[in-house]
Amino acid sequence: MRFIVDEGRLIPEALAKTNDRTAKPISYIDATSSIPLHPEFPYSPELLSFLEGKQLLLEELPFPLDLIQAHYEHGYLAYEKGMMKTKHGWRCIRCGNEENHFFASFPCARCQAVCTYCRKCIMMGRVSACTPLVVSRFSFPQACYFSPLSWNGTLSQGQQRAADAVENAIMRNDELLVWAVCGAGKTEVLFPGIARALEMGKRVCIATPRTDVVRELAPRLKQAFPSVPLIALYGGSDDRGKFAPFVISTTHQLLRFYRAFDVMVIDEVDAFPYSMEPMLEYAVAKARKETSSLIYLTATPHPAWQKEIKRGKRKAVTIPARYHGFPLPVPSFEWCGNWRKQLKRRRLPRNVTAWVKLRIETAKQAFLFVPHIDELEQVVRILKLLDERIEGVHAEDPKRAEKVQAFRDGRIPLLVTTTILERGVTVPNIDVAVLGAEDRIFTESALVQIAGRVGRSAQFPNGDICFFHYGKTREMVAAKRQIERMNKEASERGMLKTQ
Ligand SMILES: [Zn+2]
Ligand SMILES: [Zn+2]
Repeated sequence: MRFIVDEGRLIPEALAKTNDRTAKPISYIDATSSIPLHPEFPYSPELLSFLEGKQLLLEELPFPLDLIQAHYEHGYLAYEKGMMKTKHGWRCIRCGNEENHFFASFPCARCQAVCTYCRKCIMMGRVSACTPLVVSRFSFPQACYFSPLSWNGTLSQGQQRAADAVENAIMRNDELLVWAVCGAGKTEVLFPGIARALEMGKRVCIATPRTDVVRELAPRLKQAFPSVPLIALYGGSDDRGKFAPFVISTTHQLLRFYRAFDVMVIDEVDAFPYSMEPMLEYAVAKARKETSSLIYLTATPHPAWQKEIKRGKRKAVTIPARYHGFPLPVPSFEWCGNWRKQLKRRRLPRNVTAWVKLRIETAKQAFLFVPHIDELEQVVRILKLLDERIEGVHAEDPKRAEKVQAFRDGRIPLLVTTTILERGVTVPNIDVAVLGAEDRIFTESALVQIAGRVGRSAQFPNGDICFFHYGKTREMVAAKRQIERMNKEASERGMLKTQ
């Protein structure tokens, strides 16, 4: 689409009365004047509530263009450039991409020229040089919810301290990192702060890189805050296009929001792909209001963040003990020689086989982590000779959910897996081993998460965690140290049941 500029105002070519030859794509139009809000204008509440807190493409707005234009001319919404020219090329305003190889050109029917578009966020609809992004300049008064929290659980000592810090950060529009060990119960730590925010009419978003976390969190939060409208946003969710005072979203879906939230919580901030993906960081920055709080939740902060915390440059609160009060199982290291060479001969290192056999004989369920899919397949083939119920699971496995369920039901004694199960999957009373812990894929954070699968339930707070390796790495040592440090802090703060 192209616009003509009339006295500093944008008029879509399709609505222009004259056949004006000066029409241009929005990205090539420089100064336009901002239009003051006309309070007497009979605005469409449907349109404005659809657009509130969002930044949308015209085709995402199910309203006629002349109605949208009338709201623009009366100051209720604005057209922004979808892309902006930079010194070196382009920047996509929706996703922040500036990398040249993520832009492409195509003959565009809308602006009747060769047009540039962003490939990086193409899965959310095309943003090109002639694409306006529509944003609201109006917000409805926000409803306040009286005592919205209906949760009868109690917080542990460590959780309570973190919950107070979260509430404070929310009240002061501050930034805070909550560093909670695996099994500390980090979601509940948010409850008092979120309740307070909703009482004050604030809008709350919990964003996470992973769809399965959104799906798992949404029902828990609906139960905790039954009177508050809550929507869950992920690719394929029914709630897409809606807005509510309480939103649980994947970081991708946040790209459609614009200055929408007073409280932004990012869960599993270290998890792929957020930590690798500047786009998602950009999305978070854009979706927050200019004055808002930002809470990060993680069990394994990035080493750079750990340093900042140590030096007092980043505000953080730690929960070093699990909810049940038993210490974290500490990994042991076992050298297993050149295991890849052994695999080629269709064998596993002797100590690894012995570890697996003992689990089968004593009927103790276990995860065995391996670095990559091809190794996974080889290991499964070998282990099926020991017990044919043993299975393997990886990210692209179509039977992934079924196999995890079968493991939970006890029908699979040992599950060989790649790092996909390093987070989120909680099964009581299991042992865990890593084969090839020296591989680059096993970062400090991945190893801490993997060790965190063990001893999660109060009935079975112990379990074996063993890193089989062909040469100890710095990451392995750092992971073990991190776990030991947390146990020490928990013990010093009197948070452990057994010393
Ligand atoms: Zn983009
Ligand atoms: Zn175009």
